[in-house]
Amino acid sequence: MEKILEVNDLSYSFCTYGGVVRAVRGVSFDINEGEIVGIVGESGCGKSVTAQCLIRLNPEPPGFFESGSISYKGSDITKMTDKEMRKIRGVEIGFIFQDPMTSLNPTMKIGKQIEEIFVQRNLYSKKEMKSKALEILKMVGISDGERRYNQYPHELSGGMKQRVMIAIALVGNPGIIIADEPTTSLDVTIEAQILDLLKDLQKKLKTSIILITHDLGVIAKMCDRVLVMYGGKIVERGTVDDIFYNTRHPYTSGLLCSIASLETEKDEELEPIEGTPPDLFSPPPGCPFAARCEYAMEVCYETMPSEYTVTDEHKTMCWLQHEHAPEVVLPCKKQQKSEVLL
Ligand code: SF4
Repeated sequence: MEKILEVNDLSYSFCTYGGVVRAVRGVSFDINEGEIVGIVGESGCGKSVTAQCLIRLNPEPPGFFESGSISYKGSDITKMTDKEMRKIRGVEIGFIFQDPMTSLNPTMKIGKQIEEIFVQRNLYSKKEMKSKALEILKMVGISDGERRYNQYPHELSGGMKQRVMIAIALVGNPGIIIADEPTTSLDVTIEAQILDLLKDLQKKLKTSIILITHDLGVIAKMCDRVLVMYGGKIVERGTVDDIFYNTRHPYTSGLLCSIASLETEKDEELEPIEGTPPDLFSPPPGCPFAARCEYAMEVCYETMPSEYTVTDEHKTMCWLQHEHAPEVVLPCKKQQKSEVLL
């Protein structure tokens, strides 16, 4: 598979009155053509900031790149001008957000919002636009397209609005779509429909998807590979099977223990991860998870672990992988992917 995007040692921070928030710290990963990569972690772990760096959606200032590069088709996104970014954002790299109402224009009819993108991209003649817009609405499962074309966003249900957002993301036929918590605001039935739709379209169009979520159930259903983020860093990465069946990081194990599975009894309490994420104004010198980790050793508080290789695909940033570390069996490492409730 060919690499479509390469992120190398990326650090991104925000200047605030309270100091500099180091939101993303030395993150590296690749996206291959036609794959779905999930980025998972709790709120504030840096997953959304990382995704927004890829299309320069973080406000700059106060946000700024401290170091690193994002290589897309031979050009570095971190160095692009606004004009260059406008040619990529929404065209070559599409995006779908959690709340469609923040992205859809409430004063413009659905059809016109899709056509506006055709106009911006100079894609079709005026005559062709409407039939193309209806075609795309049909592709995302909106059957009564003619009626929806003439409606405003507030006239549509949450699931329908999210389908429209997907339609808009697809208009430029992008190589990559970034989907940031695309189903969090939807109920479970609609969530399943939207995820199925995304997966079907991804297969049909061979688009790569970067899926940002806090939900391992969504990861299990959708992704080929997973990046687990914590404290602005990628603490574990691997295939979905690596993460579910062979977890090597206590934080990933904690996430797995905190989700419901088919074996969870109705009244059984799930195990939350105790404690709070690190203060990114002054991140700890050692492992960012040390303050919450039941296996933390002295070295964990003092020195950042490097990334240990479990297999070619599976890597983890944890001192427990050191040859002299005590042997530990993580409690949720045998969680069955198929048992996770979606
Ligand atoms: Fe826990 Fe230490 Fe591993 Fe961090 S490096 S996750 S503190 S054992």
